[in-house]
Amino acid sequence: MDCIFCKIIGGEIPSAKVYEDEELVIFKDIHPMAKIHLLAVPKEHFPTLAELGGERAALLGRTLQKIGALAPSLGLEEGYRLVVNQGERAGQTVPHLHIHILGGETLGWE
Ligand code: 5GP
Ligand code: ZN
Repeated sequence: MDCIFCKIIGGEIPSAKVYEDEELVIFKDIHPMAKIHLLAVPKEHFPTLAELGGERAALLGRTLQKIGALAPSLGLEEGYRLVVNQGERAGQTVPHLHIHILGGETLGWE
């Protein structure tokens, strides 16, 4: 499949991984928008939340749980922001569901 994140998951494209298990990988974003900018990417390929059935919803729940548990060890103990871009007008450029994790500094909200 011609998907950048599937290629990263498969090891075809290198990435700076900070966490990996059987269903999830977390790696550094190549164009960081904050001092810490990670991408939490379920290994299963599906583009958006519109394709979220029951098992994928559980996968996403576990993903959020893992982000919460891992945050202190990733330098995010003082707070962080999650962003999930959906579709063209949100600027989603990679059609493989992913959660941006932004932190390491005080983030504006306006
Ligand atoms: P989106 O705009 O789809 O929500 O986010 C895609 C993100 O993937 C962008 O922030 C972009 O910088 C990141 N990205 C795109 N290609 C690569 C890559 O090859 N390696 C890494 N580590 N990040 C990438
Ligand atoms: Zn993919």
